Amino acid sequence: MAEQPLVERFNLRSRLRFNIESGQIWLDENRMLLMHAKAFGALRQEMIESLGPKRAWRLLFRMGFAAGQQDADLAHKLYGEGDAYDVFKIGPELHAFEGLVRSTITEAEIDWEKGVFIGSVNCDNSWEGESHLQLFGVGDEPACWNLAGYASGYTSRFFKRDIIFRETQCVCCGDPRCVLEGKPAEDWGDAAFLEYCLEPKDQETSFEQLQDELWQVQGRQREQRAAGKLVGSSPTFRAAFSLLSKAASSPITVLLLGETGVGKEVFARWLHENSTRADKPFVAVNCAAIPNDLIESELFGVQKGAYTGAQCSRPGRFERADGGTLFLDELGELSPSAQVKLLRVLQTGELERLGDDKLRKVNVRLVAATNVNLQQAIAEGRFRADLYYRLATYPLEIPPLRKRKSDIPVLVSVLIEKYSPLYHKHIQGISDLAMLGLMAYDWPGNVRELENLIERAVLLAPSDGQIEVEHLFPGMAPAAAPGAAIDRQGRVGNADEARKDQLYETLLEDGFDLQAHEARLLRLAVDRARGNLTHAARLLGITRRQLAYRVKQVLGGAEPPEHDA
Ligand SMILES: [Zn+2]
Repeated sequence: MAEQPLVERFNLRSRLRFNIESGQIWLDENRMLLMHAKAFGALRQEMIESLGPKRAWRLLFRMGFAAGQQDADLAHKLYGEGDAYDVFKIGPELHAFEGLVRSTITEAEIDWEKGVFIGSVNCDNSWEGESHLQLFGVGDEPACWNLAGYASGYTSRFFKRDIIFRETQCVCCGDPRCVLEGKPAEDWGDAAFLEYCLEPKDQETSFEQLQDELWQVQGRQREQRAAGKLVGSSPTFRAAFSLLSKAASSPITVLLLGETGVGKEVFARWLHENSTRADKPFVAVNCAAIPNDLIESELFGVQKGAYTGAQCSRPGRFERADGGTLFLDELGELSPSAQVKLLRVLQTGELERLGDDKLRKVNVRLVAATNVNLQQAIAEGRFRADLYYRLATYPLEIPPLRKRKSDIPVLVSVLIEKYSPLYHKHIQGISDLAMLGLMAYDWPGNVRELENLIERAVLLAPSDGQIEVEHLFPGMAPAAAPGAAIDRQGRVGNADEARKDQLYETLLEDGFDLQAHEARLLRLAVDRARGNLTHAARLLGITRRQLAYRVKQVLGGAEPPEHDA
């Protein structure tokens, strides 16, 4: 019997979904494009004519390289820990599945340990070859650049080093078919060739303007990230950040407002680090985390003997922040008597420790934050109006994450960078589908919730792999990409069917026993129907007579007692 194609064995069709309502096509978690080969051919032609064949070659090669890397990740995911060569072999099939070429590995000399691949691939029906022939006719040079890039990207990802494929025969040179030869980059012994294949280095000069623009973009990205942990470029974030930066160099008291988890402490810290007090202490106090009877001694300090248990004198957080910044979070939770003392310190710049009558001068910049509505707290008598007006000279509202969703991608990449080393992982980013899930979510817990989610996803994602939906939302079925799947005959079916297919696939993989499963299903139906065979039969979509017969056959007993009324 002929070996079953790998794409069939892993039911790749069920992972391809057409969601026409939302205008998306998904292959597993990657967003795909169904493009006109003619349109792609036209783009290719424009590139060759405007940039010259060498640059066009390079761009198409790099594009294929990126696609090959993506598919290598998909192959790893489909096969898990299967036989390495089996996993590797799905590459040509994926490429065929995507409609680019039919290719066959004809020779492969592999040393997984050393990361060596030397091999040869026959390619038929290369879309690129066809397109090139139509537009340019037969020439002297091979033309399947994108194809060679794909094979190189795919193989390089597998062997975790640069393995480069070069086309040695091509239909565009009049050969009967295209043939790719691949080997480790350095084995080609052709530095000029490799310079064109490998990742761009800043060597090029003739596109100076383009390069300048690129640097500006990179510079902006660096700038965005250099603002400490404050990351974002959405209009709402920029508006808040602009207010923040205006306050940084002045001694004004800032009141940070916003929901839980928006990052108030990060804002406060940025303010401190960018003020003239940056070399002095930054002290943060969460008023809600300290019991009411301790908050005053925490903030203002204690003199020995002030109360039972005060065995020695110690300074409070105010004194410890002297010269620097004191950040009071959840200010709305402050007790009434602590509010009075706080107001006095703000008015006089002096404080008294508990049980002490000595006045101590403190020079502290206060940044306060709250997620409660202080106006309302004032109306209800829980917060002093005079303290509020003292603190609210410069109120600054930090937007919730749902109002700055365009910052999510950059936040995610910063968080992946932050957590990957902590978990000794190398994460290749996040799948298109997973990103879609993040963008669609409302984020009641704001940036803190996103941070927790990404930390867990980094922990769950495989090293060298990417973060997928199941890592972000464990336990959730990967049904986030609804739409139609295509069946073996290429017909478009619905996603429900595809999910059922997947269920059966899983059952088969786990070692299937039809009789045991039937018995279990029958029992379950009878139990659910509380012994009523007519109802149980309806649940199973068969007649009562058929059910009675099967129960006898499969469960081996006498017909169960009838409870029909
Ligand atoms: Zn070719």
